[in-house]
Amino acid sequence: MKIIVIGAGYAGLTATRHLIEAGHEVALWEARERVGGRIFTQQIENGQYADLGGQWIGPTQDRIYALVKEMGLETFGVYNEGKNVLALGGKIKTYAGLIPKMDLFSLLNLDFVLKKLDRLAKNINLEKPWLSPDAKRLDSMTLATFLDRQVWTKAARSVMDAAMETLFAAPAAEISLLHALFYAKSGTSLETLINIDNGAQQDRIKGGAQGPADRLAARFAQHIHFNRELKAVIQDENGVTLVHQNGQERADRVIIAIPPTLAGRIYYSPALSARRDQLSQRVPMGTVIKCYAVYPKAWWREQGMSGQVVADEDFPIQTFFDNSPADGSKGVLMGFSLANRARPLLDKSMAERGEMVRNMLIRCFGPAAGQWEQYFDHSWADETFSRGCYAAVMPPGAWTGFEAALSEPCGRIHWAGTETSPIWNGYIEGAIRSGERAAAEVLGLG
Ligand SMILES: Cc1cc2nc3c(=O)[nH]c(=O)nc-3n(C[C@H](O)[C@H](O)[C@H](O)COP(=O)(O)OP(=O)(O)OC[C@H]3O[C@@H](n4cnc5c(N)ncnc54)[C@H](O)[C@@H]3O)c2cc1C
Repeated sequence: MKIIVIGAGYAGLTATRHLIEAGHEVALWEARERVGGRIFTQQIENGQYADLGGQWIGPTQDRIYALVKEMGLETFGVYNEGKNVLALGGKIKTYAGLIPKMDLFSLLNLDFVLKKLDRLAKNINLEKPWLSPDAKRLDSMTLATFLDRQVWTKAARSVMDAAMETLFAAPAAEISLLHALFYAKSGTSLETLINIDNGAQQDRIKGGAQGPADRLAARFAQHIHFNRELKAVIQDENGVTLVHQNGQERADRVIIAIPPTLAGRIYYSPALSARRDQLSQRVPMGTVIKCYAVYPKAWWREQGMSGQVVADEDFPIQTFFDNSPADGSKGVLMGFSLANRARPLLDKSMAERGEMVRNMLIRCFGPAAGQWEQYFDHSWADETFSRGCYAAVMPPGAWTGFEAALSEPCGRIHWAGTETSPIWNGYIEGAIRSGERAAAEVLGLG
């Protein structure tokens, strides 16, 4: 069988690998000049690097840990010691541990809401979210509707919004409650998604998160075609013709491992099923700008600070983390500008965004925070072959209205990508699992 795989992110690379190992003729088309997709490690200088896309991995993400090991790479623990900053209601406060310094009522409310979301998430059917108990009702409201009803203080709501936006990179008002619950259970629980220790942010990959993808791709480099963008898919009784900007190629099957909204921009003949096409019209990507402030050393650690910040809507950034390299040779604060806070920043220059970030960091940490060596950021909505991140978010009605359309094959077309994974949906782990599933689907055809 000849199979063409589209997209050399972790999903497409995994599918390609399994199909080659099964002895098939495989070509992998990638529109960019590199592999990794939403994982993008940029080399800076003197061996320093920055993960401009995804970077963290954590317990139960077995596939990515196994790949790191197989590729001869290592992980290291995220720095998580010292006091955190809470920038709320015009005040800057510090606190130790997981519990922010807020009034007791807000704290109890936050605890109640997080537990309630996790309790509701336990009932979700991960393979078929639309068959979960009460699915229609949960899918008829947004996460914001739920928070409007369950969060009673302004302080608790600001912290909750910052946390949810850091998880989804989209405003709560744009996410179906059913999808939010599915996403939480898909990654074990909300608590797991939020946490550093024993959570999704526990570890990083030495050398950067693109390393395992680069090394895996090197094993089958002759199968990969860079700068080759799929433009059209023409199916007939005997096979499928795939058209790129400079030509075309025949195959028996195609695995499309790109975000669903980008898949919706490709031309199909015959047209995709109405269900699949209508679904593609409803899966927007989140909005995220990942911001880096690089210092000669991690000076905040000496002050007993973790480098972590949670900030309310007065600030351009929801959350900061210590993203210094494993050997501590530099100090790096990394912040996420997300959802509605990122959107006004999309039209600003990097220098303008840098000034906004500098002002924020000075307010949170004092003047030392303004003395960086370097600032840079990366806006994923500006990337032609991602058009947003971290992943697609399902709005109300999409899961229950279109059910399996996200991953159900359309003739000779099979779908992969993290968005199609029931486990760790939206994460590297989900991407790898989706590649395995799509390869198995094709291999099952004989
Ligand atoms: C800022 C940011 C932070 C994140 N943080 C984390 C994190 O800490 N941990 C985590 O696990 N995940 C994180 N994620 C999410 C993670 O990066 C993704 O879930 C994962 O990389 C998706 O992999 P994929 O293979 O499904 O898709 P992609 O990586 O998007 O791969 C799709 C590939 O297809 C290519 N392509 C697109 N269109 C075409 C076309 N027409 N023809 C040919 N090729 C095409 C693209 O160039 C791309 O290489 C983050 C993402 C971002 C952007």
